[in-house]
Amino acid sequence: MIDLRELTKRYGDTFAVRDLTLTFPVGTVTALLGPSGCGKTTTLRMINRLTEPTSGHVRLAGRDTRELSPEALRRGMGYVIQRVGLFPHLSVGRNVAAVPELLGWPAARVRARVDELLSLVGLEPGTFRHKRPAELSGGQAQRVGVARALAADPPVLLMDEPFGALDPIAREALQAEVLEIQRRLAKTVVLVTHDIPEALRMADFVALMQAGELAQFGTPDDLVRRP
Ligand code: ADP
Ligand code: ADP
Repeated sequence: MIDLRELTKRYGDTFAVRDLTLTFPVGTVTALLGPSGCGKTTTLRMINRLTEPTSGHVRLAGRDTRELSPEALRRGMGYVIQRVGLFPHLSVGRNVAAVPELLGWPAARVRARVDELLSLVGLEPGTFRHKRPAELSGGQAQRVGVARALAADPPVLLMDEPFGALDPIAREALQAEVLEIQRRLAKTVVLVTHDIPEALRMADFVALMQAGELAQFGTPDDLVRRP
């Protein structure tokens, strides 16, 4: 479980996020939903401490993330962003292998894991392992991004507009697959999106943000029933 307590990020006079208190239960998908600039990405990046909060706390399974080493953060949380951010000079295999290699896994275990993950996201390892990111379609690249985020089997997956750059068909296919993987492996997912149908379709809970603050929280049913 991830716990945010009065989490605040201020840039000069602007509050990007203000007093956000929110819990993400284990094994669920929570969408952070809201218009551009409402603080979604800042919130997500404070969860994995790519952005330092101005004040407030983030707890991961009961532990303040300030006490966790960079390795523990990496092992605990996978991160997927829009347009992937694959290392362009590395093969697909090396991209997926990045975190396990950083964590010092033995080479044979890394290799087996790379193949397992490529298969998991629907890319045939023999065909894709040696390709470069530039040779992939948008949907394939985003699949590699998901595989890379899952590499060290983190219990938490942080996803920032992961389907935003995809055409509608690729988007729907990958949404379904991510949900399938999430359910099967009981991952805790925080999904940043400005797409209301996507939030309603994918999330167990929706946190609606407005100008850095939590405006509403509930299940998709709660939200569509409310005026
Ligand atoms: P969203 O993800 O919902 O589009 P962000 O979290 O990216 O929103 O941004 C929230 C607010 O914080 C915006 O007003 C944005 O301009 C501001 N902001 C984000 N990052 C920075 C930064 N590094 N420096 C200054 N302002 C920032
Ligand atoms: P390069 O970046 O030099 O093109 P390769 O594409 O040969 O490297 O391999 C990149 C990475 O992919 C390896 O470091 C390893 O993590 C993974 N890998 C390599 N060979 C295999 C393999 N047979 N099965 C699974 N993964 C592999």
